[in-house]
Amino acid sequence: MAGSGVFAEIIDGDVFNYYADGEWKKSSSGKSVSIINPTTRKVQYKVQACTQEEVNKVMEMAKVAQKAWAKTPLWKRAELLHKAAAILKEHKAPIGECLVKEIAKPAKDSVTEVVRSGDLVSYCAEEGVRLLGQGSFLVSDSFPGNERTKYCLTSKVPLGVVLAIPPFNYPVNLAVSKIGPALIAGNSLVLKPPTQGAVACLHMVHCFHLAGFPKGLINCITGKGSEIGDFLTMHPGVNCISFTGGDTGIAISKKAGMIPLQMELGGKDACIVLEDADLDLVASNIIKGGFSYSGQRCTAVKVVLVMESVADTLVEKVKAKVAKLTVGPPEDNCDITPVVSESSANFIEGLVNDAKQKGATFCQEYKRDGNLIWPLLLDNVRPDMRIAWEEPFGPVLPVIRIGSIEEGIHHCNASNFGLQGCVFTKDINKAMLISDAMETGTVQINSAPARGPDHFPFQGLKDSGIGSQGITNSINMMTKVKSTVINLPTPSYTMG
Ligand code: NAP
Repeated sequence: MAGSGVFAEIIDGDVFNYYADGEWKKSSSGKSVSIINPTTRKVQYKVQACTQEEVNKVMEMAKVAQKAWAKTPLWKRAELLHKAAAILKEHKAPIGECLVKEIAKPAKDSVTEVVRSGDLVSYCAEEGVRLLGQGSFLVSDSFPGNERTKYCLTSKVPLGVVLAIPPFNYPVNLAVSKIGPALIAGNSLVLKPPTQGAVACLHMVHCFHLAGFPKGLINCITGKGSEIGDFLTMHPGVNCISFTGGDTGIAISKKAGMIPLQMELGGKDACIVLEDADLDLVASNIIKGGFSYSGQRCTAVKVVLVMESVADTLVEKVKAKVAKLTVGPPEDNCDITPVVSESSANFIEGLVNDAKQKGATFCQEYKRDGNLIWPLLLDNVRPDMRIAWEEPFGPVLPVIRIGSIEEGIHHCNASNFGLQGCVFTKDINKAMLISDAMETGTVQINSAPARGPDHFPFQGLKDSGIGSQGITNSINMMTKVKSTVINLPTPSYTMG
């Protein structure tokens, strides 16, 4: 059960504490934020509503702790990360249970998220010791007009305090994808977890606490993003922001100061299907890509662009698979579980109603009970429908029939998003040309879009983001290059 066993100290009464200076604390606000279970629609947990003064204190402590951490040997930082990873994996069951209750993620996938997060932390430790254990050596005579009188040594140094803000859909995994790189690179960390998913994050942070990281190095501030978000992101003590979420990230990037930003935002990933594609493979990938975790994934397939000549066959195959999806509570490991909130469900319903009004073909009857929305495939969607462009973040998938490859590429590139996309064809030459033409951070050939494995580069173009994630890129992003130049009195040539 959440907040029991080794996690008993993270809760006080019925409210989970926040974490600062190596301790679990109650906020002086005397207020809490409720977390609504998407399935029961009742209050499941409560977390502290932290104050601005508490944020100020945390920032000060994080700054002090970072200075000492930067002097901690790399192998020692890696050792602690490996320890935290092992503790995290050991407690996959209680943390997984929080994910089931807070975000209605199917039980099996919830546990997988925790295990994957442990693996990610270990990989950060391994990648970090190699990447940060090396610098570069440059000599001056490679640039015209110079003799070999200057030796330049570069190394990667930490940025300072990293503010990490993950979204609700992978609260643990997307938190550690920021925490791991930040820590191995010598930064300290302030985590602001999503409200839905906050308790899973607090449990995860406790695993780092149990691993024995220094006080003040890792901190976790809870509260509603709409209330403390601006104060956090505009705080002068923050040296880097790593954010994953929706349009909020665009607003943050406009308000943040002159600090490095890593923004992983929304997507409208297109699945382009050519006439020669293996339609069984396509159908399985559309189901996996479009309906896993009820479509609440940044890289979910969010629009199918299929050549008219094979559209009927593909739609029939997908329809048959949709009929087999199980719908119900996350505890029963159903394929389709309630979406995260009532407002999300209402938003999805708005998109469905708009498509109905404008004449889309409903392959199933639209059905909703509370936050639970049955999987729905919408055929013959046209560009004048909202669902053609907007991200439903739910189990509703539009199919647009196209007359040419160019039409598919045009639709994909007309989107304000540019996260991932995929193309299905047996012709690798065509696939490469289409991949090059698609304005997205990644194109998958013959598979649905996906963020993992976690060490692959992951980036969005346009409104889908700034910078690139993936373990190596995140470590690099959370460091700065520092140079020292040795100036010699006379030119010196090795072996000369
Ligand atoms: P969201 O509403 O943008 O929230 C993301 C995070 O921002 C939450 O922790 C939220 O806290 C916080 N927040 C809210 N207002 C804030 C503010 N003014 N300042 C600072 N932080 C603030 O996104 P979501 O609904 O959790 O997640 C769904 C979105 O994330 C989708 O658009 C999806 O595509 C995107 N996503 C992208 C990726 C990627 O890697 N590209 C991965 C996963 C999800 P509260 O919960 O307390 O409001």
